[in-house]
Amino acid sequence: MMKKASKIKSISESQVRGPIHSFSETEIKSLRKKLLKWYDANKRDLPWRNIKGEDTNHKAYAIWVSEIMCQQTQVATVIDYYNKWMKKWPTLESLSNSSIEEVREVWAGLGYYSRGQRLLEGALKVQNELDGQIPGTAEQLQKKLPGVGRYTAGAIASISFNEATGVVDGNVIRVLARLRMIGADFTSKNVMAAMWDLANAIVDPDRPGDFNQSMMELGATVCTPQAPQCNTCPVQSHCKAIKQMDHLTRDPATKLTKSILSQPPLKKEEIQDIECAADGCTLCLDGPPDTNLGVMNYPRKPKRKPLRQQIHAVCIVERQLSQESEYLVVQRPDTGLLAGMWEFPSIEIAEGISPKKMRNKMDDYLKGTLNMTLKNVQKRRHICQFVHMFSHIQQTYELETMIIEEEEGDGCERSQESEDTPHHQWVSRSAFENQAVSTGMKKAFEAYNGRAITKKSGKKSKKSEMENGNAAKQRKLDSYFTKKEEKTSRYFTKEDS
Ligand code: SF4
Repeated sequence: MMKKASKIKSISESQVRGPIHSFSETEIKSLRKKLLKWYDANKRDLPWRNIKGEDTNHKAYAIWVSEIMCQQTQVATVIDYYNKWMKKWPTLESLSNSSIEEVREVWAGLGYYSRGQRLLEGALKVQNELDGQIPGTAEQLQKKLPGVGRYTAGAIASISFNEATGVVDGNVIRVLARLRMIGADFTSKNVMAAMWDLANAIVDPDRPGDFNQSMMELGATVCTPQAPQCNTCPVQSHCKAIKQMDHLTRDPATKLTKSILSQPPLKKEEIQDIECAADGCTLCLDGPPDTNLGVMNYPRKPKRKPLRQQIHAVCIVERQLSQESEYLVVQRPDTGLLAGMWEFPSIEIAEGISPKKMRNKMDDYLKGTLNMTLKNVQKRRHICQFVHMFSHIQQTYELETMIIEEEEGDGCERSQESEDTPHHQWVSRSAFENQAVSTGMKKAFEAYNGRAITKKSGKKSKKSEMENGNAAKQRKLDSYFTKKEEKTSRYFTKEDS
């Protein structure tokens, strides 16, 4: 009985939302005006914002591609991929005539590889079942197109078809959380429902696409996760998070400096504006805000699940032919992590396994699974230990190389492939570089070629930050090669599945 009662209580509690977390009509009007004005003057020049012509179907295709690419990936990284994609497949029809292999090649390095596959599936569906016409409403887009969720559907519908529907992505969540002091875990259903309600309430009915982009742009460039630029924010006057911090930092109880204490205290109505009147409100922070964090108290980060740890032995098998070397690559299964991508022979191994056992296991795989004979192995050595981050897995690669001196047909003959044998092939260096290969394997190849993992120039991406963060651990591989096998270097890269 007790259990049942508490369950009923928690359901009713999940509906409690204090009024300070919503916008009044007057605020909405002002917010729209300010944001659109700011967006018109400050929006970044992005290729998908320059689509010419009145063809909404074509515009929807371009927005669809850009939105899918921008999921979990920084805009700066996406631009080159987007341009390459649109050059190769300028229309949805041209995309529908391509193969999954071509799509993987263009997508290689962008991460979350199933996104490209979904785009191709969507293009085929539109061509074959929808008469070449992309659905014109968010509801139909979400219903009919594979890989199109509520956010992407809202973005395509508002930007391409002018539907007055809101969008909620990571940037919008942050902006709304700060504007309305929403500090509860944003991954909860209740908070996400509140976010969607707010986004739909404030979207401008005349310029929904621009308004949605202005919210996302503000989150990406001004109201950033770290060090938001509140002083230049066009909607600062509507921001409750900054008002709250302003109030708290004038409170003698927070022991702040004299100069701040000398400022006049907030008026009563201003304080009411930042204090939630609802008992048990499920959108509020679950405790007092940390004044050291300032507005960054919002949104509250959900507790991250610990990353799954995996260790993989990776072997770069090179066969030296009379003209040039070739490398053995294996295709991953069509589903799951890095679906359909090519990689060097790779097997999961247990933690703490000895180098000898690791080699034996790799031999078993090369012989038993890929049917190689390994008759003419000339050199074999361990190169480095290589840590590669996925969104949910920390994968440690033990990277080794094996050189096979081989006349045609000798040394690594393969018996007839059975159905269980993974698809594998020998490729030249240039073919490898143009193949659908994951970032982790590209980095492994760089390490093999004696090149240290380098950061990209320009704006720091999360990827480069991670690489920079571990820069101390990155030594030139050349120095490693002169040392004994046991001495390994450790490298860090990042990618999404
Ligand atoms: Fe974000 Fe600061 Fe603007 Fe508030 S004032 S919305 S915290 S940038």
